[in-house]
Amino acid sequence: LIELGVGPEVLVGLCLERSVALVVGLLAILKAGGAYVPLDPGYPGERLAFMLEDTGARVLVTQQSLVAQWADLGKCAVCLDADRREIAARSFVNPARAATADSLAYVIYTSGSTGRPKGVMIAHRALVNHMVWICRALALDESDVLLQKTPISADAAVWEFFAPLLLGAPLVLTSDDAIRDPVQLAAALQKHGVTTVQLVPSLFRVLTHEHGLADCAALKRVLCGGEALPTDAAQDFLASSPAHLYNLYGPTESCIDSLWWRCHRNGDRARVPIGRPIANTRAYVLDEHRQPVPVGVAGELYLGGDGLARGYWKRPELTAERFVPDPFSGRAGARLYRTGDRVRYLADGNIEYLGRLDHQVKLRGYRIEPGEIEALLGELPAVREAVVVLREDTAGDARLVAYLVGRDQTIDVAALRAALGRTLPETMIPTAFVVLAALPLTPNGKIDRRALPVPEYGQRAGVRVPARNPVEEAVAGVWCELLKLREVGVHDNFFELGGHSLLAMRLLSSLRALFGVELSVRSLFEAPTIAEVGERICTALAGEDVARALPITALARGATLPLSFAQQRLWFLERWTGGAAPYNIGRGYWVDGPLQVARLQAALAGLVSRHETLRTALVEVHGEPRQQ
Ligand code: AMP
Repeated sequence: LIELGVGPEVLVGLCLERSVALVVGLLAILKAGGAYVPLDPGYPGERLAFMLEDTGARVLVTQQSLVAQWADLGKCAVCLDADRREIAARSFVNPARAATADSLAYVIYTSGSTGRPKGVMIAHRALVNHMVWICRALALDESDVLLQKTPISADAAVWEFFAPLLLGAPLVLTSDDAIRDPVQLAAALQKHGVTTVQLVPSLFRVLTHEHGLADCAALKRVLCGGEALPTDAAQDFLASSPAHLYNLYGPTESCIDSLWWRCHRNGDRARVPIGRPIANTRAYVLDEHRQPVPVGVAGELYLGGDGLARGYWKRPELTAERFVPDPFSGRAGARLYRTGDRVRYLADGNIEYLGRLDHQVKLRGYRIEPGEIEALLGELPAVREAVVVLREDTAGDARLVAYLVGRDQTIDVAALRAALGRTLPETMIPTAFVVLAALPLTPNGKIDRRALPVPEYGQRAGVRVPARNPVEEAVAGVWCELLKLREVGVHDNFFELGGHSLLAMRLLSSLRALFGVELSVRSLFEAPTIAEVGERICTALAGEDVARALPITALARGATLPLSFAQQRLWFLERWTGGAAPYNIGRGYWVDGPLQVARLQAALAGLVSRHETLRTALVEVHGEPRQQ
């Protein structure tokens, strides 16, 4: 790398799959004195090409299987696998340290509201400050085992890589599939005796509630961050695990984490606080005149200290807008970063996160500027206006929805989706597109986001083909339950109906439980319809009797039993309508000839003894309906 001119302030693209080579590549670029730009191989080619072009990086560290997509960009590619011999022939002596505390360590791109991603420039000072803090604050040492699971494009990945190197502790690297699938992830945590893991709250909740995160015996610490940590998930975990749980808060612009809080068992707080600043970091809660607000009053969070980024790569105006002079520290040239986060100080000196002041959203930990998606939609010829919002129409299931006003032609949603897919990562592609005659406006002419209608998730044009065999029927049942749909067709696409990676993992767990068949998340991306999934299941079962693969086993009677979903629905409706019994059907019959009461009695008794459900009462146990 040094021979190729890498040194201080020189950016190097880094595009590798999660592997030992990736760790080597990261370390090598920093040792050469350069700064790395992580390029997630899972991103669409156009987005990666934009990032690499924008940085002006001349050198790319990559691997043979990924190098082809960069071929026509005219970059000098170093393939850590294919060039292994040539690399091995070079010197093994540590190079002289060329970088200083102020030299760039990495540039990470995040979503940009004007339609293109922006690069956040982090220097060694900020990185070292964070690394020293996290190792000390969490009392990490060489006996710890860490799992690398965050994609390299997110800054939370940075410390996952460097902490084990600094501590001499093992780092567990697993496949993307294992990380996306909670069953495999929980198994990996168990198998490798992982002591410290970092999870976004949405995945933390699924692992805690459905996959026994608390049963991972070696686990000492769980670090949640990236979005608000729900109190119930935190309390449920703490009630069943001796591990420590932390809520970490921080924007990429202030190097990974800026505030932190250790969660307590039985905390009676309505929200989990984001706590206090990490080492050499300052936090201010200011009003719109940049004056501090009193304790308890909401304001914008401003951050200062050693963690601050140098700014945005080649974007001086944006840098000046977000990194403002610091009037409090008294140090010449000191700056504060305006986070755009609405927070307040609590009486005990901790800070509580309340929400955003702008439209930026977090979806499963991924930072998204809806403006970036709106700008791309606005460039398409069929679209006159577009607004994108994150909706949570079902609790715990947030989805991006695009509202569009077309030009004259009708809008082809599939074409829009494909166009967005060329530049946006999967998480940023809206799950529903709603075409409106006009966008609703507030009295002063702004788009009234609250007046945007609830979309019909899963609506699609064309004929819906119903399930054609028991396997498809069972798969369709799971889809409907997960996607909250009444019906699906066997050729409908899981992701177009609102499925996302987290739901995909739950789908695969359900299919595993139903059929005993192991399907990967990748296979679902390749074959996202019920017909295709059904085929794969049949192939996997390879002639096994499907009826046997779908066992229906009787549960022991005696105890009260849960309700089926259909029963739950009726129970709910019954209470909702205040006992109006709209589902009871009354009917009268004329009987010809004399009625033999004993026979009728015996027939009814036979019916009741034959059908358990006719002998079942619904009782309430701790506020939950049960069958008795
Ligand atoms: P990123 O740059 O991707 O790390 O995203 C930073 C943004 O994520 C922050 O400005 C917050 O809006 C949000 N965020 C990060 N951590 C937390 C947390 N623990 N609680 C609430 N919001 C968070």
